[in-house]
Amino acid sequence: MSVADEIAKIFQCTRCGFCCHGETTVSLDAEDQQRMCTALGLSRDQTAEKYWRVSGAAQNIVQMKVVHGHCIFFNEGCTVHQGRPWRCAQWPLHDSILDDENNFMIIAESCPGINKDIGYEKFCEILKGILAKQHKVKC
Ligand code: SF4
Ligand code: SF4
Repeated sequence: MSVADEIAKIFQCTRCGFCCHGETTVSLDAEDQQRMCTALGLSRDQTAEKYWRVSGAAQNIVQMKVVHGHCIFFNEGCTVHQGRPWRCAQWPLHDSILDDENNFMIIAESCPGINKDIGYEKFCEILKGILAKQHKVKC
């Protein structure tokens, strides 16, 4: 069974946009920045001017701009899917779910795409398999 099929058993994004809303976004590391520039077909300077909020004393905190309370790339879904930051790609199948059922409940509360009905133990069993495969395969 493919990783995508395994993921579909425990998570199907409803594109509700909850994870893309807020007054700040996740931070982009160096690989995220490069991936996003490549996906957009823009230079680093062009991408930064149009899409990033750069802050910090050393100007080393790079986040996406927020427009009308959501990430600039959100428009009924992510419009920079191939170039999204790794933290966005990881959400909501975070490995902290495996540590504590409370983490599972908190994430499931904010993400309607999580299949809560499958039960915590089964969810973790499938998630462990997905995370193991994702060390080689990126979804
Ligand atoms: S909160 Fe979950 S279901 Fe909603 S857009 Fe984000 S990942 Fe998809
Ligand atoms: S990059 Fe895409 S997935 Fe990440 S917050 Fe912005 S719109 Fe959402």
